[in-house]
Amino acid sequence: MPKALCIGELLIDFVSTTPDVTLAEAPGFVKAPGGAPANVAVGLAKLGMDAGFIGKVGADAFGDFLRETLQQNGVDTDYLIAGEGSRTTLAFVATRSDGMKDITFYRHPGADIQLSRDEINTDYVQSAELFHYGSVSLSHSPSREATLHAIQSAKAVGAMLSYDPNLRLMLWDNAKDAKHWIWEVMPYADVVKISEEEWEFVTGDAGLEQGIDRILGLGVKLLVVTLGERGCYYTNGITDGFVDGFIVDVVDTLGAGDAFVAAMLIQLIQHVDLLSLKKVQLDAIMRYANAAGALATQKVGVIPALPTHSEIESFL
Ligand code: ADP
Repeated sequence: MPKALCIGELLIDFVSTTPDVTLAEAPGFVKAPGGAPANVAVGLAKLGMDAGFIGKVGADAFGDFLRETLQQNGVDTDYLIAGEGSRTTLAFVATRSDGMKDITFYRHPGADIQLSRDEINTDYVQSAELFHYGSVSLSHSPSREATLHAIQSAKAVGAMLSYDPNLRLMLWDNAKDAKHWIWEVMPYADVVKISEEEWEFVTGDAGLEQGIDRILGLGVKLLVVTLGERGCYYTNGITDGFVDGFIVDVVDTLGAGDAFVAAMLIQLIQHVDLLSLKKVQLDAIMRYANAAGALATQKVGVIPALPTHSEIESFL
């Protein structure tokens, strides 16, 4: 049984082969595996952790490709369900000249949100010491109930829970619902990672301090806000700090946050009590995670760009 489990979406990104175009203008696409929690599972496996992924793909060629990709990267797929009659979710992505991404999802409805509660093996979930979840699988039923059940099962046995809201608002029926569910599942988490761009949506107009107090007040033991090339800010309510990022030649920032999360978690899981971590330890952990994030920006795609421990060590 894997020591770490991630639950959520796994899909195919068809990425435009031509830069600076809209989706309508894109002449061709290359396929790449996508889905933040799946990226984190691969990131953990590449860093040497026994990791598994829980989710659903279609019983189609794309689903087979995704399963093979996870397996080739050492991720356990025993509870990656192939849904008869459902289709793997597809996303088409183009980067416009202003740098914004043009994304259209084909999800009618996608297999990822069809994972049902009875497809969750509670023993499998409860065997993990580390359990990571995101928001997309909470956007619709039945994967909402399935995800919630898995989160609660992991929490019941004292696993370390990690949450990255990873907002993809276009996948929700409305923003109010997205916000509601972010706050609904945050209290289960020991570790929360939010990116700077998501901060305002998540915390509303509360100032930085009130936002932090509200999140830590839920029982979250460590809050990390990632700041792109500037690195990250962390706080556990006792100690906090800004840890500078690394200046690198960026090729593609996709997946930097997932690389960061995997690297941070593999370090954190070695500590039983997150609140007893000293500033010097947290600084070192965040530096390691920043290095993983920076390394992930130096290659095209996400999964091929997720670093190994020796790559991080030699970078540092
Ligand atoms: P997300 O990918 O989730 O939006 P960020 O963009 O904040 O999150 O990136 C996560 C982490 O990856 C950052 O905290 C930083 O360590 C690293 N990172 C991201 N972009 C860059 C960059 N351009 N140069 C160096 N490091 C980066």
